[in-house]
Amino acid sequence: MAPWASDWIGKYKGAPLCVVRPGSTEEVARIMAQAHETGTPVVPVGGNTGLSGGTHAEGAIALSLDRMRTIREIKPAARLAIVEAGVVLEQLHEAVSEHGLSFPMTFGAKGSCTLGGMLATNAGGSNVLRYGNTRDLCLGLEVVLPDGEVLNLMSELHKDNTGYDLKDLFIGAEGTLGVITGAVLKLSPTPRAFATAMVAAPGLDEALGLLNRLQEATGGAVEAFEYMPGAYVDAHIAKTGARAPFEARHEVNILVEIGATAPRDAVPGPDGSIPVAAYLEEVLGEMLEQGGVLDAVIAQTDAQRAEMWARREAAAAVCLGRQPLVNNDISVPLDQVGAFFTRMESVLPRLDPGAEALSVAHLGDGNIHYTVYPTDTALSDTVTQAVEDVVAELGGSFSAEHGIGLSKKPSMARRKNPVALRVMRQIKAALDPKGIMNPGKVLPD
Ligand code: FAD
Repeated sequence: MAPWASDWIGKYKGAPLCVVRPGSTEEVARIMAQAHETGTPVVPVGGNTGLSGGTHAEGAIALSLDRMRTIREIKPAARLAIVEAGVVLEQLHEAVSEHGLSFPMTFGAKGSCTLGGMLATNAGGSNVLRYGNTRDLCLGLEVVLPDGEVLNLMSELHKDNTGYDLKDLFIGAEGTLGVITGAVLKLSPTPRAFATAMVAAPGLDEALGLLNRLQEATGGAVEAFEYMPGAYVDAHIAKTGARAPFEARHEVNILVEIGATAPRDAVPGPDGSIPVAAYLEEVLGEMLEQGGVLDAVIAQTDAQRAEMWARREAAAAVCLGRQPLVNNDISVPLDQVGAFFTRMESVLPRLDPGAEALSVAHLGDGNIHYTVYPTDTALSDTVTQAVEDVVAELGGSFSAEHGIGLSKKPSMARRKNPVALRVMRQIKAALDPKGIMNPGKVLPD
């Protein structure tokens, strides 16, 4: 039971009542029917990489989907994959790449997180600005309800307006309304070439200007636009011994990646240069002259691209390995990211003069992972509330992509619209009257 007795960070520990590892939807349905009959709590578990304590299963059945790893079908013509919920993200990446297609969602946990867990948390990641969140990539869903009935919503349709969209109710519900057992997912053409660069900008406003220029120049082909402050780059070097991205140290470091699917953008010209890399170079050159960019390095090889990504994908290991910490996963409008950091620079020292902060951000979609290390655990909630205040002032959300789980329940109680909370409780009571489905998560007590 040990792997199911702790979450990825090691913050939430507790032995489950037992672990069940069904191999099919029918087996999940039989387990849920028995749990319903006996009033036994059930916690669905995928890869257990969630960062909000959503899989804490003390005294409950931990229902692991790790034997449900079948990719039922790939339909290249319709650009679809029909999968079981326990399929690991990287497994799907590899399977669809054989068809020249991609499932365009990726992040650091891709080798162990499951599609069911991603759907249950509506995961985001590094490519949201081009392809959307997990919700945007899902056409159909199969769910086992808390009483053991199977709800088959495995639609392959892009348009299907037949009453309430139940699929979207289960996506992002973090296992509190049912067990996701299967899904129909959208696929995209794999870019034939990538242009990837590390860029240093004078500030976040200039960085946003760069993003907008690149979107215009490439017809919206920017796949990733990731912000790493100087302090994060320092911490990464200290932890891994990796090389610095630039000779000089910069405060605003951006990993930018553009994906080209059209041969006209991706096939090397007579001089060997790849057009999409040339567009990137051209825009960076112009912005260097205008002072909107301070330095830039374009990856020339796959190894250089991988090195750039390794720096970004180490974020969870770099930021979350130290205690005590306050792990904020927030979002603000794109043009308010700079304002968030400016506000926190004055707010945090007033609350806890010795506190440190380390951040990375999916700048292209306004999602900031702002980790604070308070000098005393007793200050954690004060810091969280101060972050929530700043986020609210800027029109943002206290929860961007990691879900609520246990860790953000106090924020839900404080910040979520009370009418929305009441409707959520009514939905929960209607679908799970005995309250056995991942009890104690998402909804405040
Ligand atoms: P789990 O951790 O097993 O479960 C998460 C929640 O979903 C729990 O509430 C669980 O009960 C529920 N659940 C799991 N499976 C099912 C199911 N089949 N049916 C119903 N409910 C279910 N997240 C991002 O969004 N973007 C990132 O960039 C990102 N980067 C990460 C990097 C690292 C290194 C790590 C460790 C995590 C990262 N995460 C990120 C968080 C995490 O990987 C995602 O939340 C992921 O979607 C969780 O998938 P999982 O299979 O591990 O789910």
